[in-house]
Amino acid sequence: MSEVILQQTTVATGAPRWERFLSRFPTVASLAAASETEVLAEWSGLGYYARARNLHRAARRVVSLGGGIPRTLEGLRALPGVGPYTAAAVASIAFGVPAPVVDGNVARVLSRLLAVPGDAKGGASRRAIEAAAAELLDPRSPADHNQALMELGALVCLPRAPRCEECPLSRACRARATGMQGDFPGKASPRPTHRVRLAAGVARRRGRLVLVEDSFLVRGHLVVPLVAVEDGDEASAALAAAWPRLAGRRAGSLSHLGLVRHSVLHRRYAVEVFEVAEGAPAGDRTRPRLLLPEELEAAPRGGLLPKVLALSASAGKPSPRGRAPRGPAPPRRSGG
Ligand code: SF4
Repeated sequence: MSEVILQQTTVATGAPRWERFLSRFPTVASLAAASETEVLAEWSGLGYYARARNLHRAARRVVSLGGGIPRTLEGLRALPGVGPYTAAAVASIAFGVPAPVVDGNVARVLSRLLAVPGDAKGGASRRAIEAAAAELLDPRSPADHNQALMELGALVCLPRAPRCEECPLSRACRARATGMQGDFPGKASPRPTHRVRLAAGVARRRGRLVLVEDSFLVRGHLVVPLVAVEDGDEASAALAAAWPRLAGRRAGSLSHLGLVRHSVLHRRYAVEVFEVAEGAPAGDRTRPRLLLPEELEAAPRGGLLPKVLALSASAGKPSPRGRAPRGPAPPRRSGG
């Protein structure tokens, strides 16, 4: 669990969530028996939701194999979502298998220690670092060795300001010897960002929020109805066309609330948010879920929904029967 949570999450954020997750699912069997919706809801806010789905599938695989977590690299790698890093970390730390672990911290330490040029995330540089990690591993104590290197990277060999005077490797460190710590590891070329315009409709029916299953950001999450908006199109028109039962056919049924920005990996979303004054709830593409505000906490949801609801709340108190139009739809825009 800890290895999966900490793959993309800091210890400060991940530790309390690890406690919470384990108290909710204390055994592999209890995790396997849960529904995906329950697992995603417990994972809400941690991001990178494929990790939660894979963990859930892995628990079911372990149970189907008899309930014991595999103790070999090969057995661990056969579980959904378990790559070389996680397999080596679990095998060495939990079961004492002499397998080198190379996470981002270890790669940084070794690239500086040995002055390995290039991007430590791939190619020849990565292979050189992995070979060095295997060669340096203490086979008598792989758990301590791997955790010591990871901690050294996390606490001493910091990305921007390495604390070389406190480092037990300082005498052997080639980067330090030449004063070039900042040059290792080399920088990867940044991944291009992808900008997406969306329109979102906040609708209520008898005090319940109309939510649908997300098909844009994270599959399985609940969001307000969304639609992609092409360059040059009006967001309100796109929303009304995609969700005609939500928006209704009367002019002015959509009231523009503002713009919300949200990012998922390399995608940057600009979301025009509209309040729906009246009309039947969404039912055009998928069956909607109607949730009371207090039910949202237990629902699988990502970071966009709270932003949209905060914008809606800041615009005024909702009433059970909807709200009077607050403003006209924004003018046609040429791009986004
Ligand atoms: S001496 Fe400095 S740069 Fe080298 S491994 Fe230690 S902290 Fe990192």
